[in-house]
Amino acid sequence: MTKTGRLREKQCDECGETSSVLYRVQRDSSLEWVFLCLTCQGKTALDNPHYVYGGTWKAQKRH
Ligand SMILES: [Zn+2]
Repeated sequence: MTKTGRLREKQCDECGETSSVLYRVQRDSSLEWVFLCLTCQGKTALDNPHYVYGGTWKAQKRH
């Protein structure tokens, strides 16, 4: 079983790092949803009245 090439990864909208798990959040008054990695969503949540958590995105595995 190989792990490479099968997983569809998304990029963090903040730092651009790819991850198989991202957090769907709103971070400003535009009410736009962005996908952030764990690190960035932690920073975004801090002191942010616009922060809304919308769930977790995970790369889907085929089986
Ligand atoms: Zn990030």
